[in-house]
Amino acid sequence: MKAGEFDLIEMIRRRAGSGSEQRLGIGDDCSSVEVPSGHELLTSTDLLLEDVHFRLDWTDLHSLGEKSVAVNISDVAAMGGRSVCLHLGLGIPSVFSDEQIAQYLEGIYSALVQYEVFLAGGDTCRSNGPLMISVTVQGLCLSGQAVTRRGAKVEDDIWVSGTLGDSGLALRYLQQKQPLPEFLADRHFRPRARAVLGQLLGERKLASAMIDLSDGLAGDLHHLLQASQVGAQISMAQLPLSEIFSESVKIESGLMDLALCGGEDYELLFTSATVNRASLESLSRELDIPLSRVGKIVSSQDLVFNDVDGQIYSLKKKSFDHFASTGDLNCD
Ligand code: ADP
Ligand code: MG
Repeated sequence: MKAGEFDLIEMIRRRAGSGSEQRLGIGDDCSSVEVPSGHELLTSTDLLLEDVHFRLDWTDLHSLGEKSVAVNISDVAAMGGRSVCLHLGLGIPSVFSDEQIAQYLEGIYSALVQYEVFLAGGDTCRSNGPLMISVTVQGLCLSGQAVTRRGAKVEDDIWVSGTLGDSGLALRYLQQKQPLPEFLADRHFRPRARAVLGQLLGERKLASAMIDLSDGLAGDLHHLLQASQVGAQISMAQLPLSEIFSESVKIESGLMDLALCGGEDYELLFTSATVNRASLESLSRELDIPLSRVGKIVSSQDLVFNDVDGQIYSLKKKSFDHFASTGDLNCD
């Protein structure tokens, strides 16, 4: 890295964007954001570490920049909120060229535009080891209306947006050194956060509980069920799968586990009272985002997957857990 820390910060400042809630942006000891009356502030941080969350020989830096924003926006969406601004912490390897830093930042800038958020601040230092990225997002929702993981009620439907397992399938291709179809590359390296969907589910009070799918349906649903102290029955036949994923499962049925435990889909999983079905179907059409009803909440605190013949489907592994595993990204 040739550019000094202050040149770099000045470069970032010029592209940081702005927003109506901004009071102080980059350049002071703190940023300052106004919380409009009747709203509450939602804050979430995600850490992305080279060789734990991404590999530089697999991803391009522009995509990594976009993804480091998307994964945070996804958390605010999962609370039914609207993202407003970000803080970006960077530990940049000393071997990085200015060109590499610029590519990464272009990805950040493009995500700022895409999600209509601004960069309010951050911290920058040199790393003697891997690239380290820490993004904090702040968003807003109406006071008392954040959609938590705790609100699922017995008999609620369980819904999921988009398709499942594509990102996990992409990882499988990469690990097996097979050429990666563009669709899967996009899902894995450039996931789009369901920002507007999450916000509207919150505003229209259509979700009783919600979580974003970062670690896989089985693991993330388990978190929601634990928080809500309920159980669930999932119908495997209803799980939304992309064309490529379905084709792959036909060839290798074991890949179905990826739809349940493959991480990083960044779709939204939520529960909703059955009276909301028509409203959710019309929201799906309005946003042109598939919403699938995949199961229901039950009182016994178990998570059961029913396969196509109504048999119980047994899962090999729940989800990717950084601490339980030795760090490999395998799902089986
Ligand atoms: P301090 O010494 O108070 O930590 P810095 O010199 O680190 O201040 O940062 C100066 C300003 O630049 C602050 O407003 C900070 O939020 C911002 N900043 C530093 N690094 C980044 C970054 N990677 N992205 C966005 N803003 C940054
Ligand atoms: Mg600093």
